[in-house]
Amino acid sequence: MIDLIDKEQRVINYLRLSVTNRCNLKCVYCVGADKFEAKYLTIDEIERVANIFVTLGITKVKLTGGEPLIRSDLANIVKRLRSAGMVEVTLTTNGLLLEQKLTTLIAAGVTAINVSLDAIDGATFEALTGVAAVNKVMQAVEASAKVVPTKINSLLIKGTNDSEIVPLIEFAAKAGVAIRFIELMPIGCGTIFEGVGADQVKDVIASKYGELVAYEKQIGNGPAKYFWIESLGIALGFINALSDCFCDKCNRIRLTADGFLKPCLHFGQGLDVYKLFALSDIEILEEIRNTIYNKPIKHHLLEGISNESKMMVQIGG
Ligand code: SAM
Repeated sequence: MIDLIDKEQRVINYLRLSVTNRCNLKCVYCVGADKFEAKYLTIDEIERVANIFVTLGITKVKLTGGEPLIRSDLANIVKRLRSAGMVEVTLTTNGLLLEQKLTTLIAAGVTAINVSLDAIDGATFEALTGVAAVNKVMQAVEASAKVVPTKINSLLIKGTNDSEIVPLIEFAAKAGVAIRFIELMPIGCGTIFEGVGADQVKDVIASKYGELVAYEKQIGNGPAKYFWIESLGIALGFINALSDCFCDKCNRIRLTADGFLKPCLHFGQGLDVYKLFALSDIEILEEIRNTIYNKPIKHHLLEGISNESKMMVQIGG
């Protein structure tokens, strides 16, 4: 198969596919007032689009949301995606419904799972998410780690959960999973909070576990830079879209739950694939190819400009 390449010569091979814009958590930096209409593609529409993406050379997909596990047909979506030729079907979830659905999802063909977990302390978790459920999420991480490659994603907010760095790492080590710290991006309601700088996170880690050693092995399909914590035997990653911009290596595109193709997270422009459903597959494919080819070069967040007005929960992260 020929690589799908944009005008910057980046190979695009990874799709973040949002299956719903609803979430069962209300994370303060992500969901906001949550007044938008619930919208999502049907399983048949998802399958159709997936076939087109596979034809274009995109064979790795991450299911996201909102919260993907609130869709009752998620396991069937996974099966359809695998049948369409998606080689990797991974999932990012808040973990609330994960333990009860884990076996079905793995049987359907999920190849890896990321669990978003921003605090181990119950009160801090509840303050961030609006729900008292940290134990449930931690149990889900441990159960998931036993059956499928699992990672924790944590996002730190100054003054809220910046004291959770060490507890999160210790929990990741106990569960035997890698953990990544995601830098807060000024998108949607994320703009009203202050994230925690990567240097500060690294200082806390170095003073507790010693200097970080770069970990050369590739883990997953994302832009994280990994380090190895020898004393705990786990990998620790950083996804720093602002302080360590990786736009030049970006390999991803996004499809929102209502079928809008976003070639870049940080730009509102894209292609309303849903509106094209009356066209033939080959016509839709050409429109998608053209939109991907014109993927923006880079974000402008450091200049204080965001070209996207949606909330993260509407995009999928
Ligand atoms: N509900 C699923 C989950 O929790 O993984 C999928 C959707 S959620 C939008 C995906 C990821 O986006 C989460 O890990 C979340 O922390 C991250 N996220 C949300 N808002 C963000 C922001 N402003 N900056 C950086 N990451 C953000």
